Amino acid sequence: MARLLEGKPIAEKIKEELRQAIINLEHKPVLASIMVGENAGAEAYVKSQKKTAEGLGIVYQFHKLSGDTSEGALIDFIQKLNTDNSVNGIIVQMPLPAKIDYKKISQFILPTKDVEGLHPANIGKIVFGKASILPCTPAAVMELLNSTGVDLYGKEIVVVGHSEIVGKPLSLLLLDKFATVCVCHIGTSKAGKLAEHVKTAEVLIVAVGKAGLIKGEWIKEGAIVIDVGINRVADKIVGDVEFEAAEKRASYITPVPGGVGPLTVTMLMRNLIEAAKLQ
Ligand code: NAD
Repeated sequence: MARLLEGKPIAEKIKEELRQAIINLEHKPVLASIMVGENAGAEAYVKSQKKTAEGLGIVYQFHKLSGDTSEGALIDFIQKLNTDNSVNGIIVQMPLPAKIDYKKISQFILPTKDVEGLHPANIGKIVFGKASILPCTPAAVMELLNSTGVDLYGKEIVVVGHSEIVGKPLSLLLLDKFATVCVCHIGTSKAGKLAEHVKTAEVLIVAVGKAGLIKGEWIKEGAIVIDVGINRVADKIVGDVEFEAAEKRASYITPVPGGVGPLTVTMLMRNLIEAAKLQ
C-alpha cells in the first residue's frame, strides 16, 4: 500500500523558511494580482493566494479590472506595475476573457517580477539549468519528489501532459536531474500507446484534466505517482489517476485534493521572495 504524499506538511516547512526570509528583507514584499472580469474559480484561487500571502507577511495588492478591458489596456496596466518600484511581483489570474491572448500578455510582465515563472526568459533559463524563478506547479512537483528522498538520476519517468505551464517545463527540470523522461500527451493516447508508456514509469506524473485516464493496473509496482489533475466528478474533486487501484501498487501517491495543490500557492510566494531579491 502506497504512502500518501501530502503537500500541506511540505508547504508548512517551506512557509516557515519564507517567513524568516521576509523578516530579513528591507520592506514587506508586495504581490500585485490582476483579475479581468468575473470567474468563480479564479476568485477562489485569489482568496487562497491572499490568505497565504498575508499569513507570511506579504502585501497582497488586488486589482480587479472590468470584463471589457482590452488587451492593450491590460498591457498598459501591467507596464505601470512593472515600473512601480513598490511592486515586487505580478500575477495575472486565469482565465482571461477570450479576446485577450494570455501567451502575449505573459511576455509583458517584467521577467524579474514574473512570479508565475512563465515569461519566455524564465522558461528559457530552465533549458540552461539557470532558473531562479520556476513555474509554480512544476516546482511543486519537484518538491514532492524531493520529499520522498528518491534519487532521480537515471530513473524512468513518464510525464503525461505537455502544457506550457506543467508538462513541458517539468520535463526540463527532470532532465536536469538526469532522469530518462518520456512525455506523453493526446497524440500518445490517439496512437493507443499511453498504457504501454505508463507501465514503464518508476515515477509517473500526470497533468491532463481527465478523471480516470490512468488505470490502476497500469501502475508499475513501487512507482511514485504524482497526480496534478483536478476534476470535478459528482461534486467531488478527483485527479487523473484511478486512486484506489493505484495506491495498491505505488510506493508513494499524492491525494487529490491535498497533494500538489497546497504546494502550488506556496511556490508562488517563494517566487515572490526570489523576485524581491533579484530587484
Ligand atoms: P492543458 O489543457 O493545458 O493540457 C492538457 C494536456 O493533456 C495536454 O498536453 C494534452 O495533450 C494532454 N491530454 C489531453 N487529453 C489526453 C489524453 N486523452 N491522453 C493523454 N494526454 C492527454 O492542461 P494544464 O493546464 O496543464 O492542466 C492539466 C491538469 O492539471 C488540469 O486538470 C488542471 O486543473 C490541473 N492543474 C493543477 C494544478 C495544481 O496546482 N494542482 C496546477 C495547474 C494545473
